Amino acid sequence: MASAFGQTLQSRADLRAVVIGAGPAGSVSAAFLARRGFQVDVFERRPQPTEEQAASYRSYPMLLSMRSLQSIDCAGLHPAFLDATCFKGRIAVPSGSTMMYSQSTSHIVHRHQLGMQLISAAQDAYPGQIRYHFDHQLDAVDFAGQQASFVGEHKQQASQHGYDLLIGADGANSRTRELLQAIDSSFHTTLVSKANCTYKTFHELPSLPSTEHFYEGFEHHQPYQHMYTMMARGKNPRIRSISMWKNSAGRMCGMAALFDWHQWGHTPEELASADFPIPPTWLRAIGQQFDQQEFNPFGRVIKCSKICGQRAVLVGDAAHAVTSVMGQGCNTALSTCAALDRALAASSPSNPAQLDAALQKFNAEWLPEAHALQRLEFMAYLARANDKPARASPLTIFWTKFLMTTSTFATMALHKLYPKRFPYAIALFQELQEPSVSYTTVMRRIHLRAAGFAVAAAAVLSIFGFLGRLLISSGLRLL
Ligand SMILES: Cc1cc2nc3c(=O)[nH]c(=O)nc-3n(C[C@H](O)[C@H](O)[C@H](O)COP(=O)(O)OP(=O)(O)OC[C@H]3O[C@@H](n4cnc5c(N)ncnc54)[C@H](O)[C@@H]3O)c2cc1C
Repeated sequence: MASAFGQTLQSRADLRAVVIGAGPAGSVSAAFLARRGFQVDVFERRPQPTEEQAASYRSYPMLLSMRSLQSIDCAGLHPAFLDATCFKGRIAVPSGSTMMYSQSTSHIVHRHQLGMQLISAAQDAYPGQIRYHFDHQLDAVDFAGQQASFVGEHKQQASQHGYDLLIGADGANSRTRELLQAIDSSFHTTLVSKANCTYKTFHELPSLPSTEHFYEGFEHHQPYQHMYTMMARGKNPRIRSISMWKNSAGRMCGMAALFDWHQWGHTPEELASADFPIPPTWLRAIGQQFDQQEFNPFGRVIKCSKICGQRAVLVGDAAHAVTSVMGQGCNTALSTCAALDRALAASSPSNPAQLDAALQKFNAEWLPEAHALQRLEFMAYLARANDKPARASPLTIFWTKFLMTTSTFATMALHKLYPKRFPYAIALFQELQEPSVSYTTVMRRIHLRAAGFAVAAAAVLSIFGFLGRLLISSGLRLL
């Protein structure tokens, strides 16, 4: 059978995969499985997504790095937004009145737009092989009999579906994970941390009157080319930042990161007190939209002791939920799908023993990566000056801050000394974008840099100490 990816893969049309969740990980893993010849049924508890929902508060912006793009491409998907509505972007970080650019190869997408586009790209790439069932919520699984049961919108019994392989791509609050845990006493989950920050979004801000201006040259920027991130300068501790960008219609959209929502006062006053360089017309419109929304949590870090069970496997946030502090949730969710595909590629899934071995291989190879990212995220979260750390002892906080600070100093020093060999002053963000650098490697480099910095600092201090003693003793001798 010729796949959309251009390779001839063995036909396994008799093999059925059931994917739970039509989020980014659900659609990409469905495409990978279809590419390997599976008949795939994707079940999503929500109704079919529409364009109109794009402006809903649930649709937050995401930065997709090469990690995501590579996985999407390997799955044989070519969603239109990557060429048309989206943008190879830079992230613009205005501070005061000057604009600072940091180069980026990321794409900025709305979560909703990404989900919708991946669904249609999967259906286009594998016609007849991938079927979506909306308004189908996973209720129960008979793991021994390989049957999944779903309920419809009003909780009536909707249907049962048999499978050879079950993929749980149902997000951070995964029902698949819950059901797997219920049948396996060695399957544990740990809540590592909870973001203490919330967000609200805004969409389609009005055009500015001629008397008001944003940044110099902003009018000439193309849609999605830049993300303008404004930090709140500490004037209002309940607001961290506002990020905004132009959508395909050239209208501004964005989101704000907010603390202490239970102490939140009157929105326009809160926004005004943060002193953002945002024109009054936009600030008013943002305030009005915020008043109509709940505060949305940024997420939780949930660590799993395993990510596979009886002919079932977890991918994406279901396998390794993270918060958005490092912007890696979707990037790693899609990398998981590619990792599962690599494990399946080396086996014959129609042979049950080989399928089980492939799932175990995936578990053994991918779990350390997922845990490394979760550790990195926890460290970044703790290292932020004004975040209140969740579930961390003072020693952990001290050690984390020490590691992050010294490794940052070491990177800056290396960049100053050997700019050709170390092109980035802040390497962590760049490394996270790079698919060839694993999260375990990023973690190892942080430790190495911190150790190098500590040794160099100790050496410098000893030299100064030695010279100081020498000076004092020769001074005493002269006297
Ligand atoms: C504010 C914010 C900003 C973010 N920014 C970034 C970023 O810049 N970069 C990045 O990489 N990541 C970012 N993320 C994280 C990213 O959104 C997630 O990691 C990503 O969406 C995970 O994809 P997923 O498919 O695994 O899960 P989800 O996107 O959660 O999708 C799961 C799907 O499963 C469905 N479902 C759930 N339960 C059931 C059930 N019982 N039956 C059937 N269907 C079910 C849900 O309706 C949903 O459609 C951000 C997250 C937030 C909140």
